[in-house]
Amino acid sequence: MTTEQFKEMAIAQGADLVGIAPVERFALFAPEAHPLSIQPQTRSVIVLGFSIARGCLQGVEQGTAGYTLGAGIPTSLSIETTYQVCRRLENEGWEATPLFRQSGEMRGQGVRVSPDKPEPNVIVEFDFAAQAAGIGGIGRGKWLLTPEFGPRQMLTIILTDAELEPDAPFAAHVCDDCGACAEACPAHALDTENLHCAPLCEGTACWYSLHIESCRVCKTGTSRLAYFGGSEPFRLGAACGRACVAHLEDNGMLARRFASPFRPAKEEA
Ligand code: SF4
Ligand code: SF4
Repeated sequence: MTTEQFKEMAIAQGADLVGIAPVERFALFAPEAHPLSIQPQTRSVIVLGFSIARGCLQGVEQGTAGYTLGAGIPTSLSIETTYQVCRRLENEGWEATPLFRQSGEMRGQGVRVSPDKPEPNVIVEFDFAAQAAGIGGIGRGKWLLTPEFGPRQMLTIILTDAELEPDAPFAAHVCDDCGACAEACPAHALDTENLHCAPLCEGTACWYSLHIESCRVCKTGTSRLAYFGGSEPFRLGAACGRACVAHLEDNGMLARRFASPFRPAKEEA
């Protein structure tokens, strides 16, 4: 199976986005966040993206329903597709290890298998992997933005010893530093005056400093993702996430288009 055939197969199975990074791009990570600690034979890190239904943001966006986002998150599809892609890789004689997103705060919660090995859980940084695999970049709001869906996707990862043709790391900028996410936050949890930066496989990613404690009690539409351990909330449905969707769509910055605007114009009183 060529890399092109592999990607066509993953899309046919249900993924919206497919990117591939060679494991060497993860060299800056310590063992507790490194793919090789999970599957030592890894040659390629495959990142799959699944769009989250935009309509499920509308209940909280328009104030007609509280937390409707959960139904729009393709949890079952992403699990099913990821396993099917793993099975297809195994059919070709390759190892395949599926990973589902977990908060980094879940690291270090187990007993080392030996003194020279990292503590479980070993957790790969998903947004870093997506950038390394060419899928998207990390925006100022501290979430992944893709040219197709902005912040509106979830990710899974497959580690494999198949040496697939890599994609170039994502080098474009979906985020234009507009500040709409920070402006929308009633708790001022995103600080536009202070950037937090982290190295990527090439360059750095910088986002507004985030007071995550405010997000943990935020009532504007945060949710918990299934299979996402820890107390870090998923912020797409919150005021910050929805402001980002509105900004990117209103300015024609996303490939996915809709017949109706995300934020319908309010009627004059
Ligand atoms: S989740 Fe809530 S508190 Fe956190 S940045 Fe978004 S709007 Fe602010
Ligand atoms: S709202 Fe603007 S600044 Fe915030 S992540 Fe989106 S594009 Fe970037």
